[in-house]
Amino acid sequence: MGGHIAAIKAEMDNSETRQRIMRALEARWRGGYAVGSIKPGYTRVPTTPATDREPARGPFRDQKNAKWTTVIWRAHEMIAAKDPPWVVAKYLAESGLPKSPRARLKEWTVENVIRFIRDPIYRGEELYKVRHNEKKFRLGKSVQVPTPPDQILRRQMPHLAHVPRWLWEASNRAIDERNTNKNAKNGKEHQLHGIPLDSRGAISQLFFCSICRAKMYRNPECYHCANSRSQPNLKRQGDQRCWNRCTPSTRTVHENLANAIVGALLAQEGCFGALCAEVVRLRVRQAEHEQVQAEIERLVAQNQVDVPLPTPDDMRLILRDVKAKLLGDFGREVGPLLRRLIDGKILAVPYKLFDRNSVHLLAHFTLNLLGLLPDQWPQLLGDRATQEEITELAETRSVPMVVDLFKRPPRVANAPTVYTMVQGGLTIRETARRLGLPETTANRAYRTGKAMTEQGLEDAYVMVESMPKRPGRWRPHSNRPDVFDVT
Ligand SMILES: [Zn+2]
Repeated sequence: MGGHIAAIKAEMDNSETRQRIMRALEARWRGGYAVGSIKPGYTRVPTTPATDREPARGPFRDQKNAKWTTVIWRAHEMIAAKDPPWVVAKYLAESGLPKSPRARLKEWTVENVIRFIRDPIYRGEELYKVRHNEKKFRLGKSVQVPTPPDQILRRQMPHLAHVPRWLWEASNRAIDERNTNKNAKNGKEHQLHGIPLDSRGAISQLFFCSICRAKMYRNPECYHCANSRSQPNLKRQGDQRCWNRCTPSTRTVHENLANAIVGALLAQEGCFGALCAEVVRLRVRQAEHEQVQAEIERLVAQNQVDVPLPTPDDMRLILRDVKAKLLGDFGREVGPLLRRLIDGKILAVPYKLFDRNSVHLLAHFTLNLLGLLPDQWPQLLGDRATQEEITELAETRSVPMVVDLFKRPPRVANAPTVYTMVQGGLTIRETARRLGLPETTANRAYRTGKAMTEQGLEDAYVMVESMPKRPGRWRPHSNRPDVFDVT
């Protein structure tokens, strides 16, 4: 009973907390105290300084750090003189002007410089509540929206000015003039509105559903076919939902693809030597035809750019670099490399375990080994790929790949090995000990292997060509009729 009353009281006490915090912050703003994080070029001074027993206590006031005035002045002058922001970013980094302590990156970026130049505090005016939070009840969270100009709080702080007003206006005008899109769309009209920032990754232009050819959409946790959800705002033909409802985990997809590609490239390491030799031979042949064919002159012109000839050592370096890139965090910067290495698309193809009802995805794609060579080379070979001499080469340069986008259960992964070992005369217990598996798993693996052999299957996973009956663990997304209910 006591706990219940305490809970009611806590709720009453906490119901106005947000307003109380906002009120305190606004009072601080009106009193001329610091609100928000500290800006570059200022120091924050507490009202009650620290003693040897107590830390410093707020409210705090900002003071101009005159040490940085020349640097800030110079940065405004450079922008006003139409220097590109990256030059200014370099200048600020070299001058040592520290960014806000809350900054995520230590280095000055172009965006930082523009925001820094745009900030009116450097001409002695401070703004507060330029954006505010608005509750979105449909999402159950708040989003930041721009405040109408007449509701933005302003205060004149001439003692904080690092540059005169005319210079600030000159530099800001220079940024305005750089902007060629005068009617930039904001908010809901913006073309990227509603698309999460983390939905675009390294394979966002490569990864597609094999059933309906829609994009495999990336959530923070998983990928899914963009057509498989019941959301009405997705554009799809005839309002047909895709039955491919697999949601492979983002992490597994990235790990497995990266490992498979790196493995395939390393396995092909010897073939790069042959590729290099072939290109050298082709070049010599071109020299013979030089005077005859005008079309070849174009190629020769490209040749005069002098394509560097990678030695086997160079190739090893390139491979090591690619390996480090792919096995790293697989961020969006890997995208261009993957688009060069992969011919066409990565298709997410549904497969079914032969003795279960669950559906999993495997990736089908073609790896193009020439993508690894310096840019001009693939073009050189591609233009002359019709010649018989290099037909063979053209075939070896593409490697078809099939990659699991899930983790195989141990009993399936070990099935062939265990079955062969037991057929070879070992007991299941001994096999389990040698493979470091639990005995139950080895037992199941043996039975799986046996069933596979009886059914004449090479692989435990079989491609699913048409819509299955409702596969295990796939439930309707809503109360509305489902693709699986329609049939
Ligand atoms: Zn689909």
